[in-house]
Amino acid sequence: MGVGCALATNTQGRERPATPLSTLVDPMSRIAHFIGPCDLDARLASIPKEPGSGTIVLVESIDKGNALPFHRQKLVLVLSAMRHFAQTLREAGHDVEIVQAQSYVEGIQRHVTRHGSSGVIALRPRDVGIEASLRKADFGVPLTLLDDGGPGGHFLLTRAEFTSWAKDREHLRMDVFYRWMRRRMDVLMEGGKPVGGKWSYDKDNRKPVKGDVAPSLPRYPPDAVTRGVMSEVSKWSKGWGNIEGFGWPVTREQAMHALAHFVSERLALYGDYQDAMVEGEPFLWHACIAPALNLGLLHPTDLLDAVLEAYRAGAAPLNAVEGFVRQVLGWREFIRGVYHERMPGLREANRFQADVPLPDIFWDPERTEMACVRDAVRSVRDHGYAHHIQRLMVLGNLGLLLGIRPLDLSHWFWAGFVDAHEWVELPNVHGMALAADSTFTTKPYAASGAYIKRMSNHCRGCVYDVKTKTESNSCPFNSLFWDFMVRHREELSRNPRLAMLLRTWDKWSDEQQSAIRDRAAHVRDSLQPAAKDPVFGAWSFHDDAG
Ligand code: SF4
Repeated sequence: MGVGCALATNTQGRERPATPLSTLVDPMSRIAHFIGPCDLDARLASIPKEPGSGTIVLVESIDKGNALPFHRQKLVLVLSAMRHFAQTLREAGHDVEIVQAQSYVEGIQRHVTRHGSSGVIALRPRDVGIEASLRKADFGVPLTLLDDGGPGGHFLLTRAEFTSWAKDREHLRMDVFYRWMRRRMDVLMEGGKPVGGKWSYDKDNRKPVKGDVAPSLPRYPPDAVTRGVMSEVSKWSKGWGNIEGFGWPVTREQAMHALAHFVSERLALYGDYQDAMVEGEPFLWHACIAPALNLGLLHPTDLLDAVLEAYRAGAAPLNAVEGFVRQVLGWREFIRGVYHERMPGLREANRFQADVPLPDIFWDPERTEMACVRDAVRSVRDHGYAHHIQRLMVLGNLGLLLGIRPLDLSHWFWAGFVDAHEWVELPNVHGMALAADSTFTTKPYAASGAYIKRMSNHCRGCVYDVKTKTESNSCPFNSLFWDFMVRHREELSRNPRLAMLLRTWDKWSDEQQSAIRDRAAHVRDSLQPAAKDPVFGAWSFHDDAG
């Protein structure tokens, strides 16, 4: 769906047929252009190209800030990036207002009233709850919501293009989608075939770190604007994580610098070490660019252009470049499409009927002695960030094996990660990490401690023994893994590889099996639910607030 066939609502919030944008926008009129917190890109169709063709409003929504116990660095990142972007637009001559209001709707309404606006234009918000609240609102003037993908959008595909791809497919498979995108966009293709002969080099991207030392991540010291936001956020009663050490890019210039630094310093080994973990090393060779990308400071084409140029120049190998392209052109677009296809049901997805409340170790890493989990949660607490494999194979894996309620873990990821927004974390947590939605995952990413030992150095310094399953100091992942397999035997044995694994279980004696399940029960019982903690238990989560 392009700009010319944007959906619109009337003043009562009912959807009405598409109207060409050209007939809605009089360049001389007082159209209010609403810029959402993730729309910080002057190239978006919702932002006037010339000063004088309407006003611009950004809203700092109090309800959104309080919707979840957001990481303090995330609040700083979003507010600082918004204020810097507003400043950039002002310097370009635009009439820009930042409104602090209870909600986005209230902020837009105040701007419309104050400026006598004749209409409101915005990009469709990423989160369905915010889009619903805008559509329901009556601003007294027409509201036009433009597609957030395709030309003038924030994604490569329009929503209609993804829907058309997904239509009539019983299962949505990322590998199928990815091949379709590579062909469609002619990326890493040669004579209609994938460059190098393979679509994916994932198998080459599973090396543990041996000897190499990751370059340090560029950090951007807070300027006066960011320091002002930090001072405000540090006074908020609700919020989690350390604010000290904030250094995420908050402007497009900083984001482009971070991207260039990644390409020149880390991309070459990004593929090799994509799945590696090293104690005390939160960033390794990862791009760490998603926080800026998801706010609009970068566009996906910025990332693709940069890495493809490096590949053409011989500065990065194919396994690294293909692995990165797969994340941007494949996984990110796929996840965003799945979110809109599967909402609102995705929030309720719970294929394994998981009902364990989130343990307090997710909020306080010092409450666990599991070295791998502690290191990952410390990273989130200190930076609002943990890398891909910590998310999936440590934190997500623990959630899956314990049977944590999907929405509990999803809320934690959403609140705690600087790059997380519902459109991206919900399909990743419910779909990929917890396999709670079977429409787009084949088999769960369940693993015992052996996987973590192979890919990291965590186990060397851990009080638990990664080689045992039943002893009182045995690695919790080991007994939990088998307990999970057995509890969901019927479902999992439909997968041939998992069925084979279950045959191993069947060979063990009754005593061995009972000892493993007893150990798993002990591990589960020893984890305190965060809901019982006086601090964490008092926190509230409002998915659609804002
Ligand atoms: Fe993690 Fe188990 Fe290794 Fe400890 S022994 S670091 S808990 S995998």
